Amino acid sequence: MKVQEKKMMVKRFFRTIFFIEIIQGLSLTLSRLFSHAVTRRYPKVKRPAKPGFRGLHALVRDPDTGKAKCVGCCLCAAICPSKCIYIYTDDGPDHRKIVERYEIEVLRCVYCALCVEACPFGAVVLTEHYEYSDYSRDAIYMTKEKLLSNWDRYMEGQKGAEYFKRFWRPMPEDFVAHKDQAVFRKMKD
Ligand code: SF4
Ligand code: SF4
Repeated sequence: MKVQEKKMMVKRFFRTIFFIEIIQGLSLTLSRLFSHAVTRRYPKVKRPAKPGFRGLHALVRDPDTGKAKCVGCCLCAAICPSKCIYIYTDDGPDHRKIVERYEIEVLRCVYCALCVEACPFGAVVLTEHYEYSDYSRDAIYMTKEKLLSNWDRYMEGQKGAEYFKRFWRPMPEDFVAHKDQAVFRKMKD
């Protein structure tokens, strides 16, 4: 047996007969006994969701038209690992695609936010709302109308305007050349 292994055996032997681990555990418990509690009495005491929290889904409402920004390209549904996004489209009167139904089976969602990242129009988001448990599955099955009202309730105003700005980088303004960087300039006529 090697010297190192012998040392380890002796150490383990003394730790066992003197209950070192138990004493260490008890001393930790005693040291925490009178310290400030870190647990919260939810739901009486709530903590605001951290920025970027992935909560309930919402469809972005276009402030100009008042309608959903979604154009029904289905990229979000294609990338969704849970396959829980269902999109039903139809031909509009001017042959523009109409999103008739946009539904998310939230109970199957894993909150990966890939749908948000894949969307080229910034039309779907994950809000910071997390208190939506219910006794029925239907209540948690999100239809297009429910998803739009989620936007109105949880992302209206500045919050919605800054959602992509704060968490989805790089943005066009990130591509400003450094002052010392060589750039192409227009030649004088
Ligand atoms: S967050 Fe992920 S799992 Fe949930 S709907 Fe989006 S892509 Fe699918
Ligand atoms: S939410 Fe975005 S990615 Fe999904 S169908 Fe609509 S436009 Fe396309």
